[in-house]
Amino acid sequence: MTDAADLRRRTADLLAAHPPATTDRLDFLRARFDAGLAWVHFPEGLGGLDAPRSLQAVVDAELAAAGAPGNDPGRIGIGLGMAAPTILRFGTDEQKQRFLRPLWTGEEVWCQLFSEPGAGSDLAALATRAVRDGEDWVVDGQKVWTSSAHLARWAILIARTDPDLPKHRGITYFVCDMTDPGVEVRPLRQITGEAEFNEVFLTGVRIPDAHRLGEVGEGWKVAQTTLMNERVAIGGNRIPREGGMIGVAAADWRARPELRTHDLHQRLLTLWVDAEVARLTGERLRQQLTKGQPGPEGSGMKLAFARLAQDISGWEVEFLAEDGLTYDDWTMRRPDGVDFTGREAGYRYLRAKGNSIEGGTSEVLLNIVAERVLGLPPEPRTDKDVAWKDLPR
Ligand SMILES: Cc1cc2nc3c(=O)[nH]c(=O)nc-3n(C[C@H](O)[C@H](O)[C@H](O)COP(=O)(O)OP(=O)(O)OC[C@H]3O[C@@H](n4cnc5c(N)ncnc54)[C@H](O)[C@@H]3O)c2cc1C
Repeated sequence: MTDAADLRRRTADLLAAHPPATTDRLDFLRARFDAGLAWVHFPEGLGGLDAPRSLQAVVDAELAAAGAPGNDPGRIGIGLGMAAPTILRFGTDEQKQRFLRPLWTGEEVWCQLFSEPGAGSDLAALATRAVRDGEDWVVDGQKVWTSSAHLARWAILIARTDPDLPKHRGITYFVCDMTDPGVEVRPLRQITGEAEFNEVFLTGVRIPDAHRLGEVGEGWKVAQTTLMNERVAIGGNRIPREGGMIGVAAADWRARPELRTHDLHQRLLTLWVDAEVARLTGERLRQQLTKGQPGPEGSGMKLAFARLAQDISGWEVEFLAEDGLTYDDWTMRRPDGVDFTGREAGYRYLRAKGNSIEGGTSEVLLNIVAERVLGLPPEPRTDKDVAWKDLPR
């Protein structure tokens, strides 16, 4: 059984064999993966050591102290947070061997082709079709709000393979090659001025059956693993006490005594306590995660994260008065990721608006918490047993 001492020893061996100061960044990351120190709770041979997930912190601390390079998780969040756990759970051995290493090192960026113009909250209504043709599937349709599609080598994709079945049952889950000539990616500009996300047109895209994840028609079940992990990935990042956005607001408060008022002080204290409660709840959720897949509790975490991000960034803009309204750069950019702590208050305020939409809207997450955590009666669903092709659209 791998324990903390064993991990420290393995980390020291890695650092001795590949000194960060003289080793190429990618070589170091590959060596770290091969040593099982990438995500220690993954299986041996796939970047892990079957160790408790909580022990990852031991490795991370040792590597940070030694100045080892990281894999830039902000840039590859969809791969790490969503594609990887889904591939691990439903992928074949070949798929795990092919995809997980370059996913973790960041050599291959992933995106998520789920939402469509007519299917967001009601994702199971999706209309993108995949039709079997010999050893391939031929995919046609349109996806939207696809974060990082402009950077991505691969996508996790859900598509309809049987329109005669009710909507949840005729869906299949695939890995889509974003370099296929039938894939067209167009930027969508957001309220921040940037285009983090895109619309993606799929025209006659050929996906080999070997790139199917899970059984034909089981895509909804596979997608649940992705979505549960997405909510934990968005809402459940490990941060230190007074870290993240509340840390930025507290630093503003300390740096600008001339802007303080009694009312803003009271509100900051309330937000500080709420942020600490959310942080500690996240710690508890991560401990639950060491025992298996995330459950619907992750929805509660993501809900709290979105509410806090909007409230704290709103407080900051108000506190900083006219300085809170400055915005450094409105030129259209296609960024590598989201930066909640390194940019100005105006960016945080605008970007936080999307937090209550991405990864499931707050209204939909409230429904999930009500039904699946609190056990309240479900919303009436009249379309559960109707063939998808007969649903009104
Ligand atoms: C920044 C950002 C990044 C994103 N990245 C991706 C990505 O990479 N890949 C991807 O596939 N998608 C992505 N999305 C899309 C996101 O998942 C969807 O926007 C979201 O699921 C909502 O779907 P919709 O936009 O179609 O809104 P709709 O589903 O049309 O919702 C409209 C409104 O109706 C409400 N509503 C809907 N159903 C119910 C209900 N049953 N009960 C109560 N209220 C309801 C919603 O809460 C919302 O207020 C991203 C979105 C954002 C903002």
